[in-house]
Amino acid sequence: MSADPKRILIIEDEAHIAEGLRLNLQLQGYRARIALTGADGLQQWEQWSPDLIVLDVMLPGIDGLSVLERIRLRDERIPVLILSAKSSLDDRIKGLALGVDDYLTKPFNLDEFLLRVERLLTRAAWSRPDAAADLQPPGTLPTEVAFGPNHIDFNSARARCCAGEVTLTEQELLLLRLFVNNPGRPLSRDKLQEVGWGYAPRTSSRTVDNFIVRLRKYFEPNPKQPVYFRSLRAVGYVFTPDGKLEK
Ligand code: CA
Repeated sequence: MSADPKRILIIEDEAHIAEGLRLNLQLQGYRARIALTGADGLQQWEQWSPDLIVLDVMLPGIDGLSVLERIRLRDERIPVLILSAKSSLDDRIKGLALGVDDYLTKPFNLDEFLLRVERLLTRAAWSRPDAAADLQPPGTLPTEVAFGPNHIDFNSARARCCAGEVTLTEQELLLLRLFVNNPGRPLSRDKLQEVGWGYAPRTSSRTVDNFIVRLRKYFEPNPKQPVYFRSLRAVGYVFTPDGKLEK
């Protein structure tokens, strides 16, 4: 947990659920506040500027989706984790395209809740241009990048590459952005895992390795002899856009 704890606003009318979430978030080192109504939630959102909102759908007065709609009018970026009873999780959430980042159906597992919170916060941090200054060289994030025969358009999430035309997933875009912003710099599996998956599972660094296998299939002329996404023994991976390993 960083020195400046993240602020999480819980908008949930069931007090015992809200209290439980607050307590557990605080135990993780977050700062957390509760709003028991949508109106109170909107007010606290404006006054407290949280880093993440946990939002129940079924609220008295202004319901959760309306709350979200109002927030999204002014803030497209703040991560919102929706809590929903199974019956109320209908296509409205996806159909309305309100900018739901993630959702959990009640009842949910507490560990999973905490994991998703962490993941959303990590993603939000890495999608900000000024994030991770220690790793990222100064300058703005590229919207497009070309290396070798490959071209990636981050805005449209499309790539023309060795494998042809592909559409990239959000996770692929995140990790590609990390690589592209740090050419020639070794990136550990832990860092890749943190950025791409939002946490570092103890067991399997195979997850990262499998992901790299996929990237190589897209972008390497010969995936078996990679020149752009190279392995660094016992370290992780390095992106070498010119196809050379810098010393
Ligand atoms: Ca409720």
